[in-house]
Amino acid sequence: MERINELRRLGLFDARVPRYTSYPTAPVFSPDFGADFQAECLASLDPAEPVSVYVHVPFCERLCWFCACRTQGTQTMSPVAGYVKTLKAELEMIRTRLPEGVKMGRLHWGGGTPTILLPDMIHDLAQAVKSVFPPAAEFEFSVEIDPTLVDEAKVEALRLEGMNRASIGIQDFAEDVQEAIGRHQPWDVTKHCVDMLRAAGIHSLNADLVYGLPFQSEDHMRDTVEKVLALDPDRMALFGYAHVPHMAKRQKLIKEETLPGDLERYNLSQIAAEMFRKAGYQAIGIDHFAKADDELSVALAEGRLRRNFQGYTADHCDTLVGIGASSISSFKEGWLQNAPATGAWTGKVEAGVLTGSRGHRFAGDDLLRKAVIDGLMCNFEVNLATLDTVFDDAAALNALHEAVMIEFAPYVKHVGDILRITEEGRPLTRIIASRYDAYTRDAGTYSKAS
Ligand code: SF4
Repeated sequence: MERINELRRLGLFDARVPRYTSYPTAPVFSPDFGADFQAECLASLDPAEPVSVYVHVPFCERLCWFCACRTQGTQTMSPVAGYVKTLKAELEMIRTRLPEGVKMGRLHWGGGTPTILLPDMIHDLAQAVKSVFPPAAEFEFSVEIDPTLVDEAKVEALRLEGMNRASIGIQDFAEDVQEAIGRHQPWDVTKHCVDMLRAAGIHSLNADLVYGLPFQSEDHMRDTVEKVLALDPDRMALFGYAHVPHMAKRQKLIKEETLPGDLERYNLSQIAAEMFRKAGYQAIGIDHFAKADDELSVALAEGRLRRNFQGYTADHCDTLVGIGASSISSFKEGWLQNAPATGAWTGKVEAGVLTGSRGHRFAGDDLLRKAVIDGLMCNFEVNLATLDTVFDDAAALNALHEAVMIEFAPYVKHVGDILRITEEGRPLTRIIASRYDAYTRDAGTYSKAS
């Protein structure tokens, strides 16, 4: 309890800080870096380096109340068919801006619900992507799968297009929790989905769990984790529910008084993490767990774990090209987000202009601070000697390192060249990383650190 009080004093339950899936974070992006910046970044890609491609499918059959993703509900397939057609048109526009010979190392379809696509749409879209970005030799294709909206024909279509990784959302298997978040996903439906994916030869399966949901109890969490472990996923993500009804309006359907308190919420995360560890999974960064032979564990051991908008990744590609409404691209020059609203994004494609609408060009000490934040978020440490060799101005952050060590003592230590967050201090990682963030932020934009 003493440690919890100490972590509380340092902001564990009160601080609202970014998840640092990017630095600078998306609220900092500016409309000054839109379509022209996108054209410049696409034209400067190096054909010798394969890129990752992210395709966003914003449609869902139903809108779960807890979800803060940019999604829209549909009961018919006509808007989805129209969206696929517009995606293909966007890809054709991008083709004209690319240098010859750019290959695709990874493809990820996220949403929303990519498995809302019918099998012929899956083939049509995958072929369109591959025609603009031919797959490189070690091509990987991952897809977010909704167990309640997938069947064998869709899995087979995805398999034929090369899907070899799948991610399924689970949240919590307790019925009262599912009722309170507006998402009904029974255990047997989830199990059937996993069986289909395994039968299709999917070698890497990720499961997403959420703690801090309404009515979630410690028993619920134990039961859900036991069921998830029975599915034998290769990796898991354990996300804290971010209750931000002022930003995600449908969360207003969730009654605040049904949410677990700060300490309960923290305990739920610890129960799940402990069960994962006991089952042999290795902790990856602040909220992922993976089997020892999973690529994430290997990447962690080899010091090449990265963070992107899906969380942690072992992706080798330095560039991510986002396709579709609201997708975010990561270029060596900076970040770029496509028009977030589907209508605005469609309008740009129909007008024949690139859809980039806001972004950020790296400048000043952005890349230095990014290196520190990425190091802390991925490995809980930063090698200051390496920073010194890469960045001319690395010493400018020395006073900041000192201040962080004082503020977060004894949870941040300087050992040799390494600035390290101790094991006990890991729940504070996002707060510690935020001390290196140079941009003014509106704390209301971000979720709680715990
Ligand atoms: S949780 Fe999945 S299915 Fe539900 S609204 Fe969010 S993206 Fe759509």
